[in-house]
Amino acid sequence: MALANKYRPKSFSEVIGQDNAVIALRNIIKNQNFHNGYIFSGTRGVGKTTLGRLFAKALNCSNYDLEKGETCNVCANCEAIQNNSHLDLIEIDAASRTGVDDMRELLDSVQYRPSQGKYKVYLIDEVHMLSMQSFNALLKTLEEPPNHVIFIMATTETHKIPKTIISRCLQFNLKLVSDELIKENIKKVFKEENVKSDEKSLDLLVELAKGSVRDSLTLSDQAISHCDGNLDEESISKLHGVLDLSSTTKLFDSIFKNEADKVVEELKRYQSLDVNYEILFDRALSFLHQKIMEMALSHETSSQSLNLYYQFFSNGLVDAKQTGKTRDCFDIAVLRCLTFINSDSTEVKKKSKLVEKIKPTPVEKPAKTEEPKAIEEPLIQKQEEDKEILNPKKDTNKTENLKNLTPTNWLNVFDLLDLTGPSRAFFSNLQIEKVEENTIFFKGADMFADRINKENIQSLIDSLVRLGYEEYHVEIESSDSAKNTPSSKWAKKRAEEIKIFKEEIISSDLLVKLKNDFGENIDASKITVIDHEE
Ligand SMILES: [Zn+2]
Repeated sequence: MALANKYRPKSFSEVIGQDNAVIALRNIIKNQNFHNGYIFSGTRGVGKTTLGRLFAKALNCSNYDLEKGETCNVCANCEAIQNNSHLDLIEIDAASRTGVDDMRELLDSVQYRPSQGKYKVYLIDEVHMLSMQSFNALLKTLEEPPNHVIFIMATTETHKIPKTIISRCLQFNLKLVSDELIKENIKKVFKEENVKSDEKSLDLLVELAKGSVRDSLTLSDQAISHCDGNLDEESISKLHGVLDLSSTTKLFDSIFKNEADKVVEELKRYQSLDVNYEILFDRALSFLHQKIMEMALSHETSSQSLNLYYQFFSNGLVDAKQTGKTRDCFDIAVLRCLTFINSDSTEVKKKSKLVEKIKPTPVEKPAKTEEPKAIEEPLIQKQEEDKEILNPKKDTNKTENLKNLTPTNWLNVFDLLDLTGPSRAFFSNLQIEKVEENTIFFKGADMFADRINKENIQSLIDSLVRLGYEEYHVEIESSDSAKNTPSSKWAKKRAEEIKIFKEEIISSDLLVKLKNDFGENIDASKITVIDHEE
């Protein structure tokens, strides 16, 4: 018999780690203060249905001890419920009976009196799976139920249950069981079963169980048969693909020191050991959580990069659950930490040392040995322009050249305007065709040009006046050929930056190392740079 079934609690006193719920349920029976519906919520494996069955047994036990709050476990009702043969405990798995016809059929039987015990108990597991029609049918019964009927509902997702149902029920939120209690329980069971184990293998089982008593016993079952009744850390680690705890500390040590080669080595090692990446995720998150708390308590400097790493791992875990590619997601989370290394511990920068090492060769300036010839001028101008595109800083000389608004300097003038909202968005997509007398002729794609209203135009005029320009008139024409707009200038600038960033990534130590170690080919066209500035 599986341990989880053999050691399933038979009385309230045997329930592990749900003291509050047990006290409340005992009081309900003692005071005969019944609701018509009870909801037991909580993650899988915390004992929702077990507690539901115990409650049903307590309601029907012929010799229930009100003082101790315990069932007798020997009367006909107790025995029948323990053997799953009680006629008045009706268990339904809502996941397989979601339809309204099933529910109606079920609710038809509500009116008949209990045939064996005092109460007819309907235990509906995964109740959130019911269809809306089924919920409505259930609601009708909950509104005016016969006195002998009690509904117990178990769910992992309370938010999917209609409020109208919840408001008619008493809800118990069952907690994950603490590691200490789970360990104590495993020890007790092992003693009973004559199983030998060392302390560390117990710790591993507790970690893998993640707060579920049932899972801890199922995992113990596997471990016992794998180790032939003599549990040791090494065999259990191998069985469940778990590394020793120090490996997480080691990994983060290398991340903090930005030792890309060591990190990659470590990831390779994980892969070769076929480790349990879910556990790695859990450990990484609790390691970072602990670090962040330590920093907060000691009032140390910013923990911004730690918070960011935490985000990488928690997002990675979500992705892993959605895609099922836990290893890939873990590796990516680790690599993201490396590319976002914090260079001065106060500010997180996009470029790690790793990337900084290989900067693109700077454009050489033409030697200024002799006076530039006329023919060189356009070249120099071109370079200046490029420089401007990449560094759109306002400098004092520039304002001088902006005295008269022209199609060329519009792009620079636009950067100085204090336009906001839709006006900014619309005009950034227009180019100046010409400026005649005191009229600016704009042109731009109709999706922008046609949407500009009087207020937008006035905002532009006002903003220009604030910059010291005269009060221009504005004419706008829609045209598909507008290319010289502020927005296309930005797009060009971002494209340049992304191109440089991609080149840096491709030539970075990290990717070179990955390429050598994993033999993967890097396809530059497949590198996606997520542009957070857009
Ligand atoms: Zn009994």
